[in-house]
Amino acid sequence: MIVVMSVSAAEQDVAQVISAIQARGLSALRMPGDDRVAVGIPSAIPPDLREPLFQQLSGLSGVAHVAHVSRPYKLASREFHKTDTVLEIKGVRFGGRQIQIIAGPCSVESRDQMQAAAESARAAGASVLRGGAFKPRTSPYAFQGLQEKGLKILQSVGQEYGLLTISEVMQPDLVPLVTSYVDILQIGARNMQNFPLLIEAGKSGHPVMLKRGPSATVDEFLLAAEYLLHHNNSQVLLCERGVHPLDRSYARNTLDLNAVPILKEISHLPVIADPSHGIGISRHVPAMALASVAAGADGVMLEMHPNPREALSDGAQSLTPGQLQALMPRLRAVAAAVGRTA
Ligand code: PEP
Ligand code: MN
Repeated sequence: MIVVMSVSAAEQDVAQVISAIQARGLSALRMPGDDRVAVGIPSAIPPDLREPLFQQLSGLSGVAHVAHVSRPYKLASREFHKTDTVLEIKGVRFGGRQIQIIAGPCSVESRDQMQAAAESARAAGASVLRGGAFKPRTSPYAFQGLQEKGLKILQSVGQEYGLLTISEVMQPDLVPLVTSYVDILQIGARNMQNFPLLIEAGKSGHPVMLKRGPSATVDEFLLAAEYLLHHNNSQVLLCERGVHPLDRSYARNTLDLNAVPILKEISHLPVIADPSHGIGISRHVPAMALASVAAGADGVMLEMHPNPREALSDGAQSLTPGQLQALMPRLRAVAAAVGRTA
């Protein structure tokens, strides 16, 4: 943190800033300039002191401006964890050289549908089978998911085809239930700042994929991840799934591929990209999947349905098994071009 004094600040104002910092047990560094003085805090500021100290210093007389230098999250940041986190779940490694593919329908609809999806996902080389059982739907009249029955289907089909499973959990009290069926909990975009849910998912210690909210800044996203880490869950995947678009007439969301290298730079956590929700149009999903890999994503989540036209949710953005199959060699070629495998 740096405190910049105003040009007219008196020497006693500077002294007051320095003693306020020292009273918190921190060191203060006086930095005289040509026309004004700045006071730096070179020591690490405990996260819980960050805001109170900022408020306090901003209000002192003679202070023109207070600026943060370090990031507001500690556990999610590379400042405190320099090397990449490689998250290994039942032998599948996220964040290593290999790019992981998560594939499957938006929603679990039936055992037959999931078996067909799993067969195609496995044939394409995916390592994780997705399928929502508790669905966050904009309309209360839209398909809400098969709930526990859907989780049972996902679990048994995942086991049958040797695929890890992921499904969304929307409420804190259902964390134990969803955890008992799936390998990875998904926290959806709409729930990125559902803090009671983040706390419960954190305490569970179960792998979690956290999706970025459609209007969330990178700092808000990483602070949401910080909740999981702070509650002792180190098994966290970040997922960029698109932000609100400037122009909805062309695409459902804007897949923010800028966020991929930015997240990789400031955080050590693996980053998954979701081009299906990111663009929302199945014919353009392959291009955005390739771009995700080129941008440095550690994994790609693809909605794929055995028969997208009959899908109960997100059919318009779901690949057919054939489209997924056709994408894979191209995706592997891009992965190779950026020094990865897929
Ligand atoms: C989903 O993965 O089907 C989903 C609902 O995603 P999001 O939370 O990103 O909208
Ligand atoms: Mn979906």
